[in-house]
Amino acid sequence: MTPQDLKDRLLRPLRRELATGAEDKVVAGGLEKLLENLGQPFPEVQAALRGYRQLTPSERVERLHQAIQLLDGTPRPSGSGENPQPSPSPRGLEAGNLNFDSPVEGLSLGPGAKKKLNELGIRSVRDLLHTYPRRYEDRRTLQSLREVEEGQKATVFGKVLSRELVKTPKRGIQLVQVRLMDAWGWKFTAVWFNQPWVLKQIAEGASLVISGRVQRRGANLSIMVEYFEDEAGESLSTGRIVPVYPAKEGVGQAFLRRAAWRGLEAFSQIPDPLEPYRQEGALAHVSGLPSLDFALRQAHFPSAEEALEQALYRLKFDEFLLLELKVMLQSGNSALLGRTFRVTPEMVERFRAALPFTLTEAQERVLNEVLSDMQGERQMARLVQGDVGSGKTAVAAAALYIAACNNAQGALMAPTEILAKQHFANLTHYLYPLGVSLDLLVGSMSAAEKRGVYDRLKAGQTHVVVGTHALIQEQVEFRDLGLAIIDEEHRFGVMQRRALLGSRPDLIVMSATPIPRSLALTLYGDLEVSQIDQLPPGRIPVKTKVLPHKLRSQAYAFAQGEIAKGRQVFVVTPMIEESEAEGMEELAAATKLRNELTTLLPEVRIDLLHGKMPAAEKDAVMERFKAGQFDLLVSTTVIEVGVDIPQATLMIIENAERFGLAQLHQLRGRVGRGGLEAYCILIAGESSKKTLHRLRVIEESNDGFYIAEKDLELRGPGELRGVRQSGMPDLRIGDLVSDQEIIERARAFAQAILEADPYLDAPQNALLKREIQARAEAIGFREVI
Ligand code: ADP
Ligand code: MG
Repeated sequence: MTPQDLKDRLLRPLRRELATGAEDKVVAGGLEKLLENLGQPFPEVQAALRGYRQLTPSERVERLHQAIQLLDGTPRPSGSGENPQPSPSPRGLEAGNLNFDSPVEGLSLGPGAKKKLNELGIRSVRDLLHTYPRRYEDRRTLQSLREVEEGQKATVFGKVLSRELVKTPKRGIQLVQVRLMDAWGWKFTAVWFNQPWVLKQIAEGASLVISGRVQRRGANLSIMVEYFEDEAGESLSTGRIVPVYPAKEGVGQAFLRRAAWRGLEAFSQIPDPLEPYRQEGALAHVSGLPSLDFALRQAHFPSAEEALEQALYRLKFDEFLLLELKVMLQSGNSALLGRTFRVTPEMVERFRAALPFTLTEAQERVLNEVLSDMQGERQMARLVQGDVGSGKTAVAAAALYIAACNNAQGALMAPTEILAKQHFANLTHYLYPLGVSLDLLVGSMSAAEKRGVYDRLKAGQTHVVVGTHALIQEQVEFRDLGLAIIDEEHRFGVMQRRALLGSRPDLIVMSATPIPRSLALTLYGDLEVSQIDQLPPGRIPVKTKVLPHKLRSQAYAFAQGEIAKGRQVFVVTPMIEESEAEGMEELAAATKLRNELTTLLPEVRIDLLHGKMPAAEKDAVMERFKAGQFDLLVSTTVIEVGVDIPQATLMIIENAERFGLAQLHQLRGRVGRGGLEAYCILIAGESSKKTLHRLRVIEESNDGFYIAEKDLELRGPGELRGVRQSGMPDLRIGDLVSDQEIIERARAFAQAILEADPYLDAPQNALLKREIQARAEAIGFREVI
């Protein structure tokens, strides 16, 4: 373990201890125990925390700050600056030397406040101020009850004149009746049914905000109270745009408003991580952004709509900025230097001349993006997205050729053997005539064959190697790996991706699952994104039809017709990946479907592919299907992306509503790859309006990017295929669908920051670094609970 690892192991519990109120409950046996074991290389840290358990809470907080600073070298986040003694600084905090990391109990919100806030996951002042309102109510111009019609709901304000408890004579209902006067001098009565205790909560002369339904009896105005608050002097719930927080039973709005107010009050000026950049002013990245101080104050207690809008913009910007920075820092950061390739027009021309077709405009554009990255001195890290068949491989081939011209080796890694073989065949077709030597490396090869490949790679005789995970085995040694290409990113973990990147070659990730740009930028913040959003000419779009379940047999009658013409058919049934047991059910469902079809279509040769099969067996089934040894393949969703079955012209998808749109589109991409007219039938297991509306998107569009956008809009990001595994960004306020512009801007800024300061070590970025850590901890904490 390196000292850095040790530091990290120590920092995490220390920060959590700080964030959870310094109660010495984070480490079993106490914080000092932890230091006895792990702290040996850091005697100053051990000294700082000596006798921790006996210290007062505020001493503990102070010592924790010292220890954390000793370990990670970042200055105190705010307020006290370099001075470790509590002393109010002009830009810092007055009330009790609070800062963003202080536990909320420092705000003296009264007994029980801490518990209530903790229930909402709010532990530190930072948590509190970054718990934004869910929505707002405009109560600037409070209505007079006089203007409200009978039976309408209203929120009104009034001063208590008198109060009484009465019992209705007939049914014995207890009524609390309170006489109030509104700001215009009109009197009215507020009525509570069967809540006699309310009487005690209301004092004469108090100011109340009341929501409820209005009743008019002649000149008598009453309101049947559904909700009320005592203003208690702090006019946080009336006469303004009022925040409404995500609350919980027992944790009321009035309390949360007061807590937020106190939190804001504690600061004369909220420290702003972007202040150094805002002062430079000229920086386009931050121009027009309000200060964090303004943003937080306005987000909680807006003075006007425009101000609120600006405030929310800033908070969203920060959220995406911190996320991008985090991703970029984690992934080792593309600001690092990579290799510089020489690219001449002759090289590109030679490649083009050898192609049997002309590149599409989209391919040309993406190729240019790739080549300019390769020429640049930064390490290329680019995601190339495009529908199946959009010609990603051709672009990859061009890049590999350029690498070979520079005497660098290239590697392409695919998730399965069959895809690796297909890529190998295609790339050989493109590159062999140009004098590039290629090798294939997959697990099923004999030891001797593999050894041959290892030798040639090490000697530099092989320019381009195509393979599976076999490429990242220890034995594989390149003479000089300059370009790595990874197909179908999300199947590989980040670690596997890193394994291939040890020598920091330029990197292209190819994905046939288009995801909206906004999502790509946040999920793969470390990758630039290129899109091949155009298919080569002459492609016939797959004719698509949604069929209700009761007409299902028509689909199979059609299948029979296609098979009679010598074509092949896919039938896909959804797979649920969550649990083993369900997996078995799936298998049962797929088997049952196969048996049903065998009875229904006795002449048809049918086979089955499912997720429980070993990889080699899956590959074998696909090979036989490709070779035309059977006609109809029943499968759960495991059929390989991108495997070409030229004779397959029909895709039938059972229970199509259970798939994401992007996934349906991708499944459909598996037919019509041999120039024949192709069809896709979506059988809707359930035909609600919503389902049909969603499935119609597929019927009407063939554009993977459009479909992915729609999917995001209709189902939310968590449902996009491939995204679940990668983990969704944890957004509080940002929205992947509507905040595209902010995302792009925040990302460009994040890049600029890291270009100047790759590890955020510069003093001016200290606050920023602390924010990133703090938010990561908050997320980590949620994982723990
Ligand atoms: P992807 O990798 O995006 O699925 P490929 O690069 O494998 O797509 O291309 C799919 C098919 O289209 C291949 O048979 C390829 O030869 C062909 N192709 C690629 N680009 C073009 C083009 N510009 N014009 C015509 N055919 C093309
Ligand atoms: Mg491909």
